[in-house]
Amino acid sequence: MTIAVTFPTVADDCIQQIPVHDNGEPLVALIAEAGAPMLLDESPQNVAHLGYVPDFRLRSSAAQRIAAVAAALPPGTRLLVKEAYRPLAIQHRYFDRYLAKLRGLHPDMDATALRLLAARFIAPPDCATHVTGGAVDVTLADAAGRELDMGTAYDASPEVSQNRCFTGAEDIPAAARALRQCLVGAMQAQGFVNYPYEWWHWSFGDKYWAHGMGEAAAIYGRCEA
Ligand SMILES: [Zn+2]
Repeated sequence: MTIAVTFPTVADDCIQQIPVHDNGEPLVALIAEAGAPMLLDESPQNVAHLGYVPDFRLRSSAAQRIAAVAAALPPGTRLLVKEAYRPLAIQHRYFDRYLAKLRGLHPDMDATALRLLAARFIAPPDCATHVTGGAVDVTLADAAGRELDMGTAYDASPEVSQNRCFTGAEDIPAAARALRQCLVGAMQAQGFVNYPYEWWHWSFGDKYWAHGMGEAAAIYGRCEA
């Protein structure tokens, strides 16, 4: 079973028309110390998956908030950060590759529809949120740092996961659903807004955050490394 899709994508007009009043906060490195509740996935597997070496930086307020999320998780549960700030060149690479794949799956779809379909999973570069330093991809791990089963692999596409990557997907194991709810509660408590098409993707400060929080403007625009 797949859930009805009623959420705006990052490329929809209602998101893109939101103004940006960038507050100029710097990108800062997330700090993961031994035994701390927050982990950074610097594994070769994650580097291979991403196709570049992530440097795990966020705007300073977002970085403080993500540390607070990790600290507030239930005992024995740790926050595992997969990706944070993403350079624009990487965003272009991801989007072009995914658009080509969708074009192959939907040869009769026009360019506008393809762009919106793609935007559920990979933002067009001009709409991207990771390039603002406010978006972050996270999952949960156990006390030993082993990734927990969240119902799909991190970064599983809608095509691969049959839409189980949508945060509200119902046809996943009850334990995974409970873990998603745990993550949702912890992230929302610190002011993050989820991208409903990806349980792991969260925004603070960018346009999607502004939309979700009812703010008149985003506080983070695209930033250069
Ligand atoms: Zn993401």
